[in-house]
Amino acid sequence: MVKCARCPRPAVIKIRYSKMHLCDHHFSEYLVERVKRTMERYDMVGRGDEILIAASGGKDSASLVHMLADLSHEMEYSVIGLHIDLGIGDYSERCSAKAVKLFEEVNIPYIVLDLRRILGHGIPELSRKIRRKACSLCGIVKRYLMNLTANACRASKIATGHTMEDLAQYIIKAFLLQDQEQLSRLKPVTKGRNGLIGRIKPLCEITERETFTYAYVNHLPFTYEECPMFRERTLDAEIRSFIKRMQYERPSIVISLIRRQSEVLADRSAKNLIKCAYCGMPSSTSPCAFCKILIKLGREPEDVINRVYEIAEQMSR
Ligand code: SF4
Ligand code: ZN
Ligand code: ZN
Repeated sequence: MVKCARCPRPAVIKIRYSKMHLCDHHFSEYLVERVKRTMERYDMVGRGDEILIAASGGKDSASLVHMLADLSHEMEYSVIGLHIDLGIGDYSERCSAKAVKLFEEVNIPYIVLDLRRILGHGIPELSRKIRRKACSLCGIVKRYLMNLTANACRASKIATGHTMEDLAQYIIKAFLLQDQEQLSRLKPVTKGRNGLIGRIKPLCEITERETFTYAYVNHLPFTYEECPMFRERTLDAEIRSFIKRMQYERPSIVISLIRRQSEVLADRSAKNLIKCAYCGMPSSTSPCAFCKILIKLGREPEDVINRVYEIAEQMSR
């Protein structure tokens, strides 16, 4: 039995960069401290911030909700949970149940948006109706609704559970495809402007193995299931397996990539923003990607905006 480096209890994980074994208690303590240092390093939050945390029901966002709620008193910010029920059959029902259970357990105010009530359809039907791949549609809808909800509940930041692997994958892919616009946005922090609420990724230096272990040892409600709509592209799978190999063979190289990326590239996305003529939100096109979906569905942006504002108002604080 390998013992914890800080006490006589059995270790549950070996931290690769520091070659240190830790027990469940000391690992949780260590990980929360690392997330705190990450938030300080990138100046993610300030005193009085109100952070909307997006939780999908999976391990990464469950760990994020738990850690941010834990640090909120010490770092003097407040948190609100957000779960979007994507209407993907039983899978979404199980995800929603886990997310709500988590919000209740950590005792934070929360909002649940059900796509079928907001847009009349879940992701599978929307994908068929609009004739667009489920994941690209889902990305547009989630990004828009997160921002709208943050505005509706006057949140100053949106926190998402992107891990080190997620961010590294997006950076490498954008670099290979030379998508400079995308590359400039792939940072741990993006600033807010004109109704576009700033985003933070407090887990950007934490691995998936660590979020899983954290969620597991803290008995957090989360689902192990993968979304049934998920279809990984070959390029994404190849990049992912390269990152995994690097994390094993050279554990610090992926963190260096994320840190260097955030230093070298300025956020260029702000320059090209215009106002969507339909919903009034900042976007690179008019109509924005979300309003293009609404137009195809024959829906008015006001209906969606009013519905989300009503739900946000009903939230108990
Ligand atoms: Fe949405 Fe695709 Fe992720 Fe499923 S796999 S939650 S459809 S982005
Ligand atoms: Zn210990
Ligand atoms: Zn719009």
